[in-house]
Amino acid sequence: MEGDPEKAARKFLSEHFKLFKMKQDLEDLPFLRKTDSLGGCHVIFQQVFNEVPVYNAFTSVHMDKCNRINKIDICYHPDLSVEWRVEKGISGEEAIRIAVETLRAEKRLAGKITTEMVIYPKDGKYYVVWKVAIPLFNPTEEWYVFLDYKTGIILDILDALLKFTGRGRVFIPNPVVALGDRSLTGESEIPDKAYADVVLKDLDGSGYLRGQHVDTCSTPNRAKEQNLIFDYSRQDPRFKEVMAYYHIDEAARYIQSLGFTGLCNKTIKVNSHGDFVDNSYYSRDKKEITFGTWYIDDGEDADIILHEYCHAILDEQVPGFGLNWSTCPIAEGFGDFLQHVFLLR
Ligand SMILES: [Zn+2]
Repeated sequence: MEGDPEKAARKFLSEHFKLFKMKQDLEDLPFLRKTDSLGGCHVIFQQVFNEVPVYNAFTSVHMDKCNRINKIDICYHPDLSVEWRVEKGISGEEAIRIAVETLRAEKRLAGKITTEMVIYPKDGKYYVVWKVAIPLFNPTEEWYVFLDYKTGIILDILDALLKFTGRGRVFIPNPVVALGDRSLTGESEIPDKAYADVVLKDLDGSGYLRGQHVDTCSTPNRAKEQNLIFDYSRQDPRFKEVMAYYHIDEAARYIQSLGFTGLCNKTIKVNSHGDFVDNSYYSRDKKEITFGTWYIDDGEDADIILHEYCHAILDEQVPGFGLNWSTCPIAEGFGDFLQHVFLLR
């Protein structure tokens, strides 16, 4: 096709409008965006009705660098019709109120709630709806609630959080144990075989190390990898974030696999790059673990990571446990005990 990709794609759709059951002038199919890739580009159109977008109704035209069309994906509703009047419906604020109440979300809001008016197909009918997007924490969740504009009735609630799997490099639990070499010091060259390649489970897909059990949100200059591959070595501060994410997430899963499904089943915040001190701690107020960075960073050692996580677990059971001299030894002992049980499992 001649011309720029958008015009070429539009011309092609228009020429074959009968085949695709579209309108010849494509007036309800405005251009949404174009993305480039190695092989060419992808032009995406969004179906609208009276300028309101139709939910998930995208038509994508894929072409190579010479504007040769290779493939077309169509989600288009040919017989779309819906009657509605702007003045007869609930407000966006009202939609948010109903959605938050239904999800019992008020105490777990993790950010701004957004609303969007869309045309929503359901069971062969079309509805004008408010799509309310609600982000939550503890655990990390995001929901789309679709409410009928006319009646305020909830048509659907969708889990918006696709869980993603990433990859990374960690020590298990540290180079001294992994290599069986007690002569290592902070200055030693650490060979590749001291590292293990691991799967990082249930990332939220944002590119951050953020998932159901761990969020490294308190770490300065936190790691962000859009492809979810977190391959660092210990010189890189971000390596410690991968350590914290992997080991805490694995520990939480292990504990839950034993049947303790409610035990500290929440997102723990982590700062893997704390102060220049030889100490790490769990903050009961912030529900956050901070790893010290003096000499060898504490976040390089899974023993320490798990020990601190144990303080979070105990605090969930008995708030403040371990703060006085009669419970402190038990709390410290429990941390050391569990970290070893876990690493020997
Ligand atoms: Zn401790």
